Amino acid sequence: MAPTRLILAAPRGYCAGVDRAVETVERALDQAGSAPVYVRKEIVHNLHVVSELSKRGAVFVHETDDVPEGATVVFSAHGVAPSVHVSAAARSLRVIDATCPLVTKVHSEAKGFAARGYRIVLVGHTGHEEVEGTMGEAPDVTVLVGTVAEVAGLPDYPAGTPLVYLTQTTLSVDETREIIAALRQRYPEIVAPAKEDICYATSNRQAAVKALARTVDLVLVIGSRNSSNSNRLVEVARDAGVPSHLIEDESAIEEGWLAEVATVGITSGASAPESLVRRVVEWFAVRGVNDVEELHVVHEDVAFKLPRELRRAT
Ligand code: SF4
Repeated sequence: MAPTRLILAAPRGYCAGVDRAVETVERALDQAGSAPVYVRKEIVHNLHVVSELSKRGAVFVHETDDVPEGATVVFSAHGVAPSVHVSAAARSLRVIDATCPLVTKVHSEAKGFAARGYRIVLVGHTGHEEVEGTMGEAPDVTVLVGTVAEVAGLPDYPAGTPLVYLTQTTLSVDETREIIAALRQRYPEIVAPAKEDICYATSNRQAAVKALARTVDLVLVIGSRNSSNSNRLVEVARDAGVPSHLIEDESAIEEGWLAEVATVGITSGASAPESLVRRVVEWFAVRGVNDVEELHVVHEDVAFKLPRELRRAT
């Protein structure tokens, strides 16, 4: 058997926060002319995006210390801790902050709850840049939890301690529900943020891949290894009982995966450009698979304004 049909999940690919962050670097490069534009960390977690922007002149660095004094630096969509703003100011850097507004919302919650005396349990993945940024808002009162099993290892808070949970924006909706249930069991008084922190793009892409998994024999997720939301899409497809692989692009597809497959489902993480989907579709077309459909699950029309530093300058 060989594949005869492709079904593309919709929505897939770029979310409003990634779209904004990539455009932010492009606009900053246009404005800078021949001056360099530095970007702290990967602007979004996608190798192709980073490589394209590097070719256009963006210089990716790990820390603000790697940026020459007085130069322009763009902060990535994942957000930064307040200490990073402080160190940028100390070096007189011109900061363009491309933090996704939905990440900024979680930062504001962390700051607000901490100011009101709350302890914060952040549900998220150790070492992820977004988690480092959010924890940095209230490091002394925040603990991190990544799994249901880890809930048992969280501190015993004195009776009456106000407690809230917040979450990373790109988690598995189902897994997070289980972690929150375990938190509520351990801490019956824990409160929730006013509005869910897992963002619309993460939820919608997971809903779409779940629907996709019901109709295909294999799900390919286009995205980079360090992309949290792309990895979650693979897990959601597998949890639905369908084999699934994360691929950087068409060169990562293994013919062996397709041996017993009639219909291939394709989706892409929130940081993967649509050009990569087209390349994967073309890879199949060359092999005679020309029956391509889309499965529309949710309509999206979210867009964010560019960072104010760029709006002022244009
Ligand atoms: S995945 Fe969600 S939180 Fe992250 S950049 Fe996109 S819209 Fe923003």
